[in-house]
Amino acid sequence: MPLENFKAPPAKIPPVNAPHYDVLIIGAGLSGIGAAHHLQSRCPGRRYAILEGRARIGGTWDLFRYPGVRSDSDMYTLGYSFRPWDQPKAIADGPSILKYLQDAAKDGGIERHIRFGHQVKRASWSSAETRWTVDAEWEHLIAPGAAAPTKEPVQFTCNFLFMCSGYYSYESGYTPAFKGRERFGGQVVHPQKWTDSITHAGKRVVVIGSGATAVTLVPELAKTALHVTMLQRSPTYVVARPSEDALANRLRRYLRPKLAYGITRWKRVLLGMYIFNLCRRNPAKVKRMIAGGVRMALGPDYDVGRHFNPRYNPWDQRLCLVPDGDLFKAIKAQRASVVTDEIDTFTEAGIRLKSGAELSADLIVTATGLSLQVLGGLQITVDGARIDLAKTMNYKGLMYSGIPNMASSFGYTNASWTLKCDLTCEYVCRLLNYMAKHGYRQCIPRNTDASITEQPWVDFSSGYLQRSMHLFPKQGSRAPWKLYQNYPKDIMLLRFGKIADGVMAFA
Ligand SMILES: Cc1cc2nc3c(=O)[nH]c(=O)nc-3n(C[C@H](O)[C@H](O)[C@H](O)COP(=O)(O)OP(=O)(O)OC[C@H]3O[C@@H](n4cnc5c(N)ncnc54)[C@H](O)[C@@H]3O)c2cc1C
Repeated sequence: MPLENFKAPPAKIPPVNAPHYDVLIIGAGLSGIGAAHHLQSRCPGRRYAILEGRARIGGTWDLFRYPGVRSDSDMYTLGYSFRPWDQPKAIADGPSILKYLQDAAKDGGIERHIRFGHQVKRASWSSAETRWTVDAEWEHLIAPGAAAPTKEPVQFTCNFLFMCSGYYSYESGYTPAFKGRERFGGQVVHPQKWTDSITHAGKRVVVIGSGATAVTLVPELAKTALHVTMLQRSPTYVVARPSEDALANRLRRYLRPKLAYGITRWKRVLLGMYIFNLCRRNPAKVKRMIAGGVRMALGPDYDVGRHFNPRYNPWDQRLCLVPDGDLFKAIKAQRASVVTDEIDTFTEAGIRLKSGAELSADLIVTATGLSLQVLGGLQITVDGARIDLAKTMNYKGLMYSGIPNMASSFGYTNASWTLKCDLTCEYVCRLLNYMAKHGYRQCIPRNTDASITEQPWVDFSSGYLQRSMHLFPKQGSRAPWKLYQNYPKDIMLLRFGKIADGVMAFA
């Protein structure tokens, strides 16, 4: 670990006398820092801590270190409602986002509530005690050069558990088993494991994948690589958008930062919803528009039909956004190319494709996705009974049938993550205040309506989601069990909807 990343270990916690909190937040990423902010401002006086498995703040935005890592949605909606994004770029690079999160934690006095190196393993609810017992593994963070880190079990208790643990495993990304991988003489790396020691300058690079990570990596690597090939089994919709929002930058000059930010945020929300709905209503038209944009960028001779014309409809999977058309520029400059084919086998010198063609490579980047994980991989029990999350139904997109006093922060699939997280936090604070006012110690969503049918958690056709959907909770056919993926609807439900709605049972 580089010295600048070293953090002193928190004071040693005796495992027997488990410290008690009103609220325990799991995870110090974008969601966890947001949750802490809302909790501090809407429920002052609540004792809370954040348990974070890693040594640093930021989650995703600290973990991913591959060249060019950036947001793929705009920072006016990926930023918090309470903290204006004041940089000129709407599509921001990873380090700027990380700094934004670090500043939010620092300015809000949130840092001192974080216990780093605490990987939570189990949470057990006791109705008799109306509290969670949370078991974590505390990894002592030690200075470079010292002996290996040690791990010891620590225990906490809390009245309310707020899971802000993201949606994928931090252990490793998803990599399919490629035939002949062991034969390859060069280097193979998954973007989640990228480190500064990996060099690409002057090399022949093959990036396997066609999602957001692949389209981010390819133009960035192409700046110094000998050549970069994006190898995809099937195409994705790729749309070029300006990296800056001209209106936002103009408004900031004349208006107070919060007002300018608020206007831009709503403009972006409404524009995003308009495009999403247009895709749903008239997919053929949007398909033509997207293909037209690619053709304009790459010229009439480029085989857009083969490389940029997916089999599915726009927004059946996430659209890929390329700022200022950087991917297309790299292709046009012949620094990068796209190959649509299937891998037969890795060879000593690269990859042989099912078509018989060969791609030579010194470095292969497997941008093949994430390994999804529900609620930080926690084992959850309620009164001694192990909970299978796949058998629960999500309530308002933030709680789960049969699990008391626990919420999770899970963002939108068709808009920026933070829009939903902010609303989730508002709701959780309203819920906690309602319970305090009425003297309740337990809340539990229960589905007693037999006419509600089960549906998958998300209806995206993306492979990485479909692979793991069987592990996820279900959604129901109607409110409050349905996930609408719709910000204005969620404002009505979460900001203004009744807390005592007849479905949530209090005790
Ligand atoms: C490369 C990349 C780019 C992305 N770009 C966008 C974008 O542009 N727009 C968008 O809306 N979304 C984007 N996303 C999705 C992104 O993950 C979310 O926007 C957001 O950062 C998630 O924040 P989070 O705090 O919920 O989760 P994370 O960022 O994953 O943070 C979770 C934290 O919880 C900790 N944790 C997990 N489990 C445990 C446990 N058991 N015990 C203790 N700690 C635990 C982790 O260590 C981590 O610090 C992107 C994702 C990736 C990977």
